[in-house]
Amino acid sequence: MRKEPERTCVGCRNAAPQKQLMRIATDGVEGVIFDRNHKGQGRGAYLCYKKECVEKAKKRQSLERALKRPVPQPIWIELEKAVEDATAKREE
Ligand SMILES: [Zn+2]
Repeated sequence: MRKEPERTCVGCRNAAPQKQLMRIATDGVEGVIFDRNHKGQGRGAYLCYKKECVEKAKKRQSLERALKRPVPQPIWIELEKAVEDATAKREE
């Protein structure tokens, strides 16, 4: 059996199977996208579906450092929304 690839969350620094993390990726020359389907070709960074990880990454600019470019505000909003949706789903 093949081991699932693991990635490290830039918020808490814990490794988790790639599919359990959100992927944020570079896109084009300057863009950053929330790569929901993990299909983007660019450099990727990962975050848990956890509010505290998103906040830590934001405060420490971990995503910016990992991607080497600024992360626009709408991306943060998308990430926060995705965490909320995932949390709501877990609590159902
Ligand atoms: Zn995390």
